Amino acid sequence: MLPQWIDDGLPFSCTGCGKCCTGAPGYIWINEEEIEAIANRLEITIDTFLKEYTIREGDRISLRDLPEKNYDCIFLEGKGCTIYDERPTQCRTYPFWPQNLESKESWLREAAECEGIRADAPLVKKERIEREARLTKEKSTMLE
Ligand code: SF4
Ligand code: SF4
Repeated sequence: MLPQWIDDGLPFSCTGCGKCCTGAPGYIWINEEEIEAIANRLEITIDTFLKEYTIREGDRISLRDLPEKNYDCIFLEGKGCTIYDERPTQCRTYPFWPQNLESKESWLREAAECEGIRADAPLVKKERIEREARLTKEKSTMLE
């Protein structure tokens, strides 16, 4: 259930700037289904994929980022994602992550990171925001 201040939706339209895929250390959590899909896309085994493209943090697995390249996600090329059709849920649902929707302040803070969040962008309906926030939570859960 989202807070009331989101009732009318939120203004967002992705410009494709690629900034959310670079620029600071962070995690892009992936679940088992996503691991399999990306490994298939790369035509490598799951073991090779895990070894070369991911890191483990406790019970969870994240895509690797590259400190030597401004913390680019390992799949970022220019401004584009080289596994776009198989990108993890967390990438698909950004910026509608639960932590960004906690308060107006947290949403506005995220606007400083994402140029797609701007007052003149089309409004995204509450139902979609709710669905994406829920998906982010469900799909980023720990591996069994
Ligand atoms: S930072 Fe925002 S506008 Fe830029 S690619 Fe990511 S979602 Fe789109
Ligand atoms: S998987 Fe693709 S969309 Fe997700 S952070 Fe990496 S480059 Fe960006």
